[in-house]
Amino acid sequence: MPDALLFAVLGDPISHSRSPQIHQAFAQQWGHPITYEAIRCSAQDLPHQLAQCWSRGHQGLNLTVPLKERALACCDHIDEAAQQAGAVNTLIRQDTEWAGTNTDGAGFLADCETHQISLAGQHVALIGAGGAAKGLCPVLLNQGVSRLTVLNRTEHRAQALVNQLDDSAVQALSLSDAEQPSVDDSTFDLIIQATSAGHEDTSPHLHASWLSADAVAYDLNYGPAHEPFRRWAQAQEICTVDGLGMLVEQARLSFIHWTGWAPESQPVIEQLRAEQVIPSALD
Ligand code: NDP
Repeated sequence: MPDALLFAVLGDPISHSRSPQIHQAFAQQWGHPITYEAIRCSAQDLPHQLAQCWSRGHQGLNLTVPLKERALACCDHIDEAAQQAGAVNTLIRQDTEWAGTNTDGAGFLADCETHQISLAGQHVALIGAGGAAKGLCPVLLNQGVSRLTVLNRTEHRAQALVNQLDDSAVQALSLSDAEQPSVDDSTFDLIIQATSAGHEDTSPHLHASWLSADAVAYDLNYGPAHEPFRRWAQAQEICTVDGLGMLVEQARLSFIHWTGWAPESQPVIEQLRAEQVIPSALD
């Protein structure tokens, strides 16, 4: 039996992370043992922790809140996916340096494909203007959405994100405006819920008049944090997908970067749903 390869996820808080369980499930499919640690790390401590992990022989790292943007300045090499997202979620050990990439956007796309959610030509409402929303914008534009409306509780953050993208297909709107009846005939085909409101047991919502007849919704949250948005979407009779598939797909892409071996995501998604009592993705 070969020595176990060493990996870790860094962030703060970190005890809730499902990454160790997901990567151990991938390693079981692969047939090679791995050690996957969860290391609590503040943004300030990131350079020190990266040096520690390098000297301890980690082959790869995942980064989560609040490290993804901070890591841009700490990596020796950043690829295009990380540059476009403005954030790093995966570090790969190379000969003499950490290389940074971002698998969140590609993980989202893989899950959209699984659920046959089309993006090209769609008018997309992206609710939220935090790190996750920011990372999805270039991915959505690359996929050819016809319009992208960024809605946020704090309107100036949505506006700042739109200004940064500098694309005439993108506009900003205050979330509170979209909670009122629509004043023109523009409607959304796809609603992407990328706020953390579900962790406070609440949910942003859009007035029914903003929804197209066959609108679908994708919530980046999963588990209990998905419930408030799921209830709203169910009341509007629109199909909703939760973010568990994206979580597993982005992890799968990290695993491929590290090992060169591609695990299957669906058995791991099913295992998590069974163990964590996370409801089905589509309802
Ligand atoms: P950030 O902290 O960077 O951003 C939070 C966003 O949520 C802001 O737009 C904020 O608005 C908004 N918000 C927070 N509370 C409320 C509320 N009560 N009502 C309305 N809006 C609110 O978080 P991230 O962007 O990193 O993550 C967002 C969510 O996506 C998290 O819940 C995270 O777990 C999930 N996620 C899931 C992933 C997956 O793989 N499934 C990957 C990445 C993230 P404001 O600007 O007004 O404060």
